Amino acid sequence: MTPANDFLRVSKRIEQFRDEMVDLQVRLCALPAVAPSSGGEGEARKAEFLRSFLEDNGFEGPTLVKAPDMDAPAGYRPNLLAVYKGRSSARTVWVMTHLDVVPPGELAVWRGDPFKAWVEKGRVYGRGAEDNQQDMVASLFALKAFRAEGLKPAFDVGIALVADEETGSRKGIQYVLEHDNPFRKQDLIIVPDAGNEKGTLIEVAEKSLLWLKIRTLGRQTHGANPEKGVNAFKAASFLVADLETLYRRFPAKDRLFDPPLSTFEPTKKEANVPNINTIPGEDVFYMDSRILPAYPVEAVEKKIRALADRIEARFGVRVEIEVKQKAPAAPPTSVRAPVVQALKRAVKAVYRKEARAAGIGGGTVAALFRHSGFAAACWSKIEDTAHQPNEYCVIDNMVGDAKVYAHIFLQE
Ligand SMILES: [Zn+2]
Repeated sequence: MTPANDFLRVSKRIEQFRDEMVDLQVRLCALPAVAPSSGGEGEARKAEFLRSFLEDNGFEGPTLVKAPDMDAPAGYRPNLLAVYKGRSSARTVWVMTHLDVVPPGELAVWRGDPFKAWVEKGRVYGRGAEDNQQDMVASLFALKAFRAEGLKPAFDVGIALVADEETGSRKGIQYVLEHDNPFRKQDLIIVPDAGNEKGTLIEVAEKSLLWLKIRTLGRQTHGANPEKGVNAFKAASFLVADLETLYRRFPAKDRLFDPPLSTFEPTKKEANVPNINTIPGEDVFYMDSRILPAYPVEAVEKKIRALADRIEARFGVRVEIEVKQKAPAAPPTSVRAPVVQALKRAVKAVYRKEARAAGIGGGTVAALFRHSGFAAACWSKIEDTAHQPNEYCVIDNMVGDAKVYAHIFLQE
């Protein structure tokens, strides 16, 4: 369906842009867009720079959606929306990437300055190089190639460069969806903020997340006279064993996910008494549950409370359950959605691989689209160096992903 000759021309042109793409990466790394809540200045300077890039390269707009933020020196967090006109405006193919980056962390473990990107063995190193500049640059240069070749995409292409992805998106895509929503139900929405090394993972669904702090209160006493106290650690241990039954009580399997089932795992454990001969009066442990969208999170919470009630009655303890984080899964994007099919065709054409729609255990920003009723898919070919020291982008992936976008933009 993609005119083969046009695709060849655009692909060649993208390859010629290789050095310019690396150059843009280096420039973007030099504009550290760390969120104010992580000790940075926000994304305003990076957005200004990209706004001129968009203006210079034939984009309509761009519109700047400012989410007020008094903690940012600019007073706002920038969200840039720009459209590159296609032959038809019946729908828009969106690529959304985020402007913000996480702080570099321990500088001593970096082999260079995280904000002075360097090139080594076909990779660009620097904070933000992979997350999320790799595919930001890829999507921009895909369109630059169309312009250079005098070609038009089949449909309008939308570029969304958003703020605040790393700290919750409330001043990023969430704000755009609530205040200045340009998206339509028929649009294709690609979010290149998840993927795998082969470029074969199209993320369409995620599990609900539930993090609990479970505090068991008994009565401290001497180790020689347990009958005079109530052993909180022992009671909590029986509770941990009982929580294993959640796997039986919520047994659904969904092969979209790996692993294909809901998981309920005790994780962090706080220290109790420092000496061996004291019966602890307090016990604290945490639990990380990843729940298939088939089950309401509340049903799991209710069951956990019921198990805790039984432990209270049996041991004479009090069990306090505190929700540390709760993120109910968004309705999944259908594996048959046009955006998934378009990605599959393009991955096949560029990387000669069959991509597969799948669910993941953690949250991505695409969930915000899905909660608002839009079919969004996460995809990119990445090494997963995001948030790590010496984060890098493989230049071949950046160039290859640009071709994937170009292919999709040509699809009728
Ligand atoms: Zn990211």
